[in-house]
Amino acid sequence: MTTSMQTSMQSLDGGVLLPGDESYDQARTVWNAMVDRRPRLIVRCASVSDVVAAVRTARELDLEIGVRCGGHNNTGHAVPDGGLMIDLTPLSAVRVDPVRRRAWVGGGALLGALDRAAQAHGLATTAGNVSHTGVGGLTLGGGMGWLARQHGLTCDNVESYQVVTASGEVLRASRDEHPDLYWGLRGGGGNFGVVTEFEFRLHRTGTRSLAAQYDFPVDRAFGAMRAWRDLSAAAPRQATFTADAGRDGLVKLGFVWVGDPAGARAYLPSLAALGRPVATRVQEMSYVDLQSREDAVQGHAYRRYSKGHYLRALPDAAIEAFLLRGDGAETDLPSAGLQAHGGAIDDVPDADAAFGHRGTMFEWGSGARWTDPAQDAERIATARRAAAAMEPFASGVYVNSLADEGAEGVRRAYPPAKLARLTAIKDAYDPDNVFHLNANIRPTQR
Ligand code: FAD
Repeated sequence: MTTSMQTSMQSLDGGVLLPGDESYDQARTVWNAMVDRRPRLIVRCASVSDVVAAVRTARELDLEIGVRCGGHNNTGHAVPDGGLMIDLTPLSAVRVDPVRRRAWVGGGALLGALDRAAQAHGLATTAGNVSHTGVGGLTLGGGMGWLARQHGLTCDNVESYQVVTASGEVLRASRDEHPDLYWGLRGGGGNFGVVTEFEFRLHRTGTRSLAAQYDFPVDRAFGAMRAWRDLSAAAPRQATFTADAGRDGLVKLGFVWVGDPAGARAYLPSLAALGRPVATRVQEMSYVDLQSREDAVQGHAYRRYSKGHYLRALPDAAIEAFLLRGDGAETDLPSAGLQAHGGAIDDVPDADAAFGHRGTMFEWGSGARWTDPAQDAERIATARRAAAAMEPFASGVYVNSLADEGAEGVRRAYPPAKLARLTAIKDAYDPDNVFHLNANIRPTQR
């Protein structure tokens, strides 16, 4: 390290962690316990100038950069082996202006912090379903959640971004400033720089929600799922339909409602069309509780593997594949789920943002969770077979659910015209592909 670099690292508002330091192992640990990489240094960034110093230092030392917010990326892109990890977790402040209905959120904040700060005023914006997920990675890839059918994807609600580029410049991206960058940041992932602050639009959502779940044995679920699909197509925007095929042999069909539970209760009789469930669960809760009710089951310290698809339609054959979850010879079925899109997501013109798949009817996902490394191959293969069974019905993939698909996955996440525009933005803002530990948009010259 040159003297000037040492000085810039010593004058950080946050600090540097090196192998052997007390918090080093904690800082390099991410959600998926299969990720075990050792950065050469971890820069804990507490200010925009820390991020600038980290980017410049990495470039001068020719170190690979990983950017960490919530650490939930499936493959642990945030942690560069032997590289420099930009740890944004100290940049986690959330400020809400309830009158203007805006939130300014640090690039390292978790969803729970945004939800709690906004809900103190009866406000919210679309955020994901697990409160320990990072605002950074989720928003940059699009951001799907229980409010999306009412208010659009998370990225549809970003008014502006503060970004540190690959050259260490600090820019603001909005409809009026660097509009090309603003377009790319709304779905293009972490390809164009480090976002140090997101400015979100908030909505009056109230503070209540309701979740309805009707359970069917898998061998009786086909008819119920057909009715569930048809109801979903005409459902009110407050309702997001969900289906979960569990490892317990049950298929759980229902919806999550955000808003006055009285509306949900008035809608519940429609679910009689599903037939007779073996169990029913209807639960009212606060929106904040809804947003963290999956936190434990989606907790840290497990080995994980997941696959996803977007579906523009759910024909009967796709329902059969969803229930089968493999090639029919499976002895250990993985769990799989569907979550409805539509509503306000599709009000946004497709050309408005980089996000690749407006017009999706359902997102399908299958996730495996285990602890014994000896099971790695088997559990990964099972999830892959479930994904292969759904593939004939898929129209693409959510960039944030990509696992190990490489460049082919990126082509599935963005249609060709969007990929071409993203490549032009990459050429303009990161021609050397400094930010490549992500679903990588490769610049032309590389
Ligand atoms: P990280 O691993 O910290 O970041 C992922 C990548 O994003 C980084 O490698 C970097 O390239 C980029 N990045 C992150 N922050 C910044 C920043 N500030 N500036 C620049 N680049 C940045 N997605 C949904 O849409 N809805 C959901 O409900 C949902 N639920 C999930 C639940 C769980 C338990 C998990 C594991 C994932 C879920 N996801 C969901 C997917 C989620 O959007 C992605 O995993 C996302 O990458 C997580 O972001 P992160 O900040 O936590 O991850």
